[in-house]
Amino acid sequence: MDDEEFRAAAGDVIDYIIGYQRRIRERAPLPAVTPGYLRHLVPSEAPEQPDSWADVLADMERVIQPGMTHWHSPQFHAFCPLANSPPALLAEMLAHGLSCVGLNWEAAPACLELEMLVLEWVAKLLQLPDEFMTRTGTGGGVITGSATEGVLVTVIAARERALARLRAADPELDETVARGRLVAFTSCQANPAIQRAAATAEVRLRALPADSECSWRGDTLRQAVEEELAAGNVPIYVVATLGTTSTCAFDRLDELGAVCRQHEMWLHVDAAYAGAALICPEYRHLLQCGVQDVTSFSFNAHKWLLVNFDCGLLWVRDASQLAEANRIDAPYLDTAETTLPNFRNWSLALGRRFRALKLWFVLRLYGVSGLQEYIRGHVQLARQFEELVRRDERFELAAPVSMGVVCFRLRGEGNAATAELLRRVSEARRVYMVKTELPTGQLAARFVVVSRVTTDRDIAVSWEEIRRHADAALSGAAA
Ligand code: PLP
Repeated sequence: MDDEEFRAAAGDVIDYIIGYQRRIRERAPLPAVTPGYLRHLVPSEAPEQPDSWADVLADMERVIQPGMTHWHSPQFHAFCPLANSPPALLAEMLAHGLSCVGLNWEAAPACLELEMLVLEWVAKLLQLPDEFMTRTGTGGGVITGSATEGVLVTVIAARERALARLRAADPELDETVARGRLVAFTSCQANPAIQRAAATAEVRLRALPADSECSWRGDTLRQAVEEELAAGNVPIYVVATLGTTSTCAFDRLDELGAVCRQHEMWLHVDAAYAGAALICPEYRHLLQCGVQDVTSFSFNAHKWLLVNFDCGLLWVRDASQLAEANRIDAPYLDTAETTLPNFRNWSLALGRRFRALKLWFVLRLYGVSGLQEYIRGHVQLARQFEELVRRDERFELAAPVSMGVVCFRLRGEGNAATAELLRRVSEARRVYMVKTELPTGQLAARFVVVSRVTTDRDIAVSWEEIRRHADAALSGAAA
């Protein structure tokens, strides 16, 4: 492809994306294909001679689109929001055009320095304490690929911090025995990603019960810590969730923080989805109530902050602990002396993409006010849906409505009617929701405001489709 061919093809791609997004309502959010569909549409070997651009582009409709679940359809209400915005797309194109690997300062000075800057901008919006800033404190922020990565690198840091303390107290320490005594805690409502990160770091994790509103309380943590201490174990690390995946519940950071302070445990806050809302002054108290005890904080800008995937954000209060514990070195990596952070030691991969560019574009082209307006708009749409659920006596809310998440169910004993409703709605493919299970064992449908283009009319359309199936689901379940 020469320059002129590339220019023309790039124009085709932009036109395609705009057309796709404009006409997104014409496509059902769920595809009609069955597993294995794609193999029947493409040759079994790579082409010996180059295909034409026209054929490749045409295959977007013939091969790819039939198998797309449309995450940006306003009738897509599953999982969590996935950000998608023109400023972020433009930045991604430029980042890939410049195509660098930010493995140290010299390899990509702008990549490193812009990442430091935008993480500091966002930290200020969240009103994180000064210690979390590279320039004014001991800490700083870094872009990760995921919330899981944020947990993994911080649990490793907490593990190494604890082992260093144990070694200092007992120079004869048997390291293998000591590792086996370390224990971490989270709530049973935390995302399963926390389990995997702790398992990867080989730290035992206890998932403790939450209260009736799915919020994890300090007393539950205190009791578990005391049990572990009595058994001779060493509590080191706690993950509190602000906005759980299941119901968007908020753990009580003030209570958990007090226990972490008392027992000198690392307190990591996972706010993967709801963290973006903390840029709005009316939600800041959810973090501020316990921020003085927080050791690290993360949220995914690629969920609800209009920055395309992937863009996880992680801040730590003490960057030296993180960098020491996750350090990788080789003679060829340290090419220039600098006092700036070495982000390869703050994250999992050595190679790092220029992801700061898209966060920078989004912050500049929406402005803080535009992002706040976007978040408030989604919260408002969830309230509208809540109202519709409340007005229909066949339905009930299954958990308190929180941010853009509404968990609801069909009234009555057992879960059969709600399971039947979800089955019927999925089969019709016009609205996509997933289920969740509450600590009581109740099944609920999770309705999440996901798409950037959702309007109040779209919410009404989704509700009409859901309620259309309610009577059949109730009688189907009763039969
Ligand atoms: N934590 C919470 C609260 C989440 O909602 C999710 C995913 O939705 C995760 C963690 C896992 O995120 P990631 O895929 O970025 O690791």
